Amino acid sequence: MSPRVFRAPGRVNLIGEHTDYNGGFVMPAAIGFYTSVAVRPIEERKLVLSSAQFPDRFEVSLDEAAPRKSWCDYPLGVAWALEKSGYRLRGGELTFASDVPIGAGLSSSAALEVSTALALATLAGHDIPTRRLAEICQQAESEFVGMKCGIMDQFISIHGRENHAILLDCRNLDYRPVPIPDRLRLVISNSKVKHELTGSAYNHRRRDCETAAEFFGKTLLRDVTPAQFSSRENELTPQVRMRARHVIGEIARTGIAASALQTGDYRKFGELMYASHESLRVDYEVSCEELDKLVDAAQKVEGVYGSRMTGAGFGGCTISLMEETAVPAFLDSVPAAYESAFGRRPGLYVCRPVDGAHEVIS
Ligand code: ADP
Ligand code: MG
Repeated sequence: MSPRVFRAPGRVNLIGEHTDYNGGFVMPAAIGFYTSVAVRPIEERKLVLSSAQFPDRFEVSLDEAAPRKSWCDYPLGVAWALEKSGYRLRGGELTFASDVPIGAGLSSSAALEVSTALALATLAGHDIPTRRLAEICQQAESEFVGMKCGIMDQFISIHGRENHAILLDCRNLDYRPVPIPDRLRLVISNSKVKHELTGSAYNHRRRDCETAAEFFGKTLLRDVTPAQFSSRENELTPQVRMRARHVIGEIARTGIAASALQTGDYRKFGELMYASHESLRVDYEVSCEELDKLVDAAQKVEGVYGSRMTGAGFGGCTISLMEETAVPAFLDSVPAAYESAFGRRPGLYVCRPVDGAHEVIS
């Protein structure tokens, strides 16, 4: 019997940064880089896992899945989370191949989890609601792999839609598609730097957000309006005030950004992207000179609407929205500006929004 093949895309977040854990909005799009998996059933209740990107091959009983501190933890974690949710699985041989850049911030991990989840669910004959599937994949990464993460990556890898980003409400997982026409491009620039302290700085930001929410008598900063904030912000310590100002402003910006895309006002959308970057740089203090340089160089290119850091910060990528006609000038000038400042070239990916995970019918 020939194998069935499933594939799941990577993603980029257009706006709404550090808002997820505050119950706010994010606006990711799935992009045309995929992790594919070919799956065949096997009689025994075990998984046989291999990947074109890694040399090691694993054979693990479904009844003894425990983390091994290797790439197999992602698919094993998905199997574990599926069974924990009551979806009994059957054995299978899963062979992965991917063109999602690994560790570049485009979420190769979610693409791996989601492709696994589709393959295992189909193999065992389960039809799982898509939102539940996203939660299962998130649980695999946070609890089995041990990487605490929000749900955005897994959610968009499943719910992505061609020529659309989605506005996702992280509090209740409501979402709606927002259009990005065919002639626009999302260009991702990878700074290829990762500054230290990412983990602890992230935890400090989260704590400051909790402190601010508590001050306003709320569990989540999402529930503090900009008006409530400005009426009492001077009672906060300077640092907590800055962190809260970013989050509350960013949640509002993301909602406005969705309306701008809906009405085709890309200039407005772009201004909000630049404002998001400034807020992340000045108030949230998670940018770095490499990301600032990439945004600055992007801003100088005719036909670029907006640019900002994307992801947790301290390195990683920027995202720029532009007319397709602006791409050649962008690819000319942005890497050159970056190289003359830092002596190395950024990674560049020219993308459009694509559909979420699906079976590949040959
Ligand atoms: P990102 O999600 O930003 O690409 P992560 O560190 O979250 O980076 O996830 C990368 C990890 O996911 C890799 O180190 C590897 O363990 C696993 N992974 C991703 N893609 C593949 C693949 N094609 N085959 C095997 N493992 C993969
Ligand atoms: Mg990841």
